[in-house]
Amino acid sequence: MSSKPLSPARLGWIVGGIWALIVLLSIFLLLTSGGFSSPQPEPIAVETSEPAATSPESATLDTIIPTETTGPPTATTVPTLALIPTATFGPSPTPIEFPTVVPTSNALWEGPLVIGYSVQGRPIEVWRFGRGERQYLVIGGIHGGYELNTIELTDQLITYFSAKPDAVPTDATLFILRSLNPDGEALPHKKEGRANANDVDLNRSFPIGWSPTWDRDGCWDLLELNAGTHPASEPETIALMAFVLENPVLAVVSYHSAAPGFYPAGEPLDPNSIALARYLSEVTGYPYPAYYTGCYMTGSLVDWTLSTGAAGVDVELSTHWDTEFDVNLNLVLALLRWLPPEE
Ligand SMILES: [Zn+2]
Repeated sequence: MSSKPLSPARLGWIVGGIWALIVLLSIFLLLTSGGFSSPQPEPIAVETSEPAATSPESATLDTIIPTETTGPPTATTVPTLALIPTATFGPSPTPIEFPTVVPTSNALWEGPLVIGYSVQGRPIEVWRFGRGERQYLVIGGIHGGYELNTIELTDQLITYFSAKPDAVPTDATLFILRSLNPDGEALPHKKEGRANANDVDLNRSFPIGWSPTWDRDGCWDLLELNAGTHPASEPETIALMAFVLENPVLAVVSYHSAAPGFYPAGEPLDPNSIALARYLSEVTGYPYPAYYTGCYMTGSLVDWTLSTGAAGVDVELSTHWDTEFDVNLNLVLALLRWLPPEE
């Protein structure tokens, strides 16, 4: 076969055709790869330092706080993202399981609802009484050990309200978290049980005003406890936060012992929490203002629940052994009728 040399005009047509084909092919590839479509927003992640949880069993905070909802966003999901400083959540050393607990039973009361597990795997349990719109939370045993009487008190309250759930006003709901520090509860009735199994004082571990160390002047100082590796590093802390974010409450009472009195939330003190302390002081006779030792609180539970909109008080029982049940039953019954004062 012989070949005829191409004329310049014919060569130009061929080169032009090849270029046209390349351009058309490029446009086709761009269209099919989505290169011209509008960019999709990245999903909001509360925690970016860990891979996203892929199953309910390995839920971490970012799955407890829904980033996608099937319905319109609710009032609780939007502020939730603002409340939690994303940069302060580091990786958890072990996978932590937190059931998303939103009581749905129609029964007048239910419990225990397991809202999480301690460092050593003990369940953290909440009871619900009543079904009303105004929700209140009572917490025992954030400090275990020789504050064990606070847990004996929550047990007595649970026994009382499960026998008489109609003592809760119809427009109120009472949540009782019997023991926030079950690992400390399991230790002897001494100072060692104050911390959780990581030697963390849970009442210093919440992600508000958190500090790794604190001035010990005027503060409990019998052991060298710590505040956790970072804000909300402890599973007990995260369990409480997840529950409150899912179940917003009007007011929180967190029990301690022993130096009778009320300590309102806030720095500076929150006016609603002061009003709550005054009101409960009148009911119980526990003093407000209580004796102030000069201790400055960092990362405390009631300061964090205040950031969710809940008034809060720490309540100190008079001793390490008596639950002062009658007084504290009156406290809870009064709490269930409390409303924040008008602005
Ligand atoms: Zn305490």
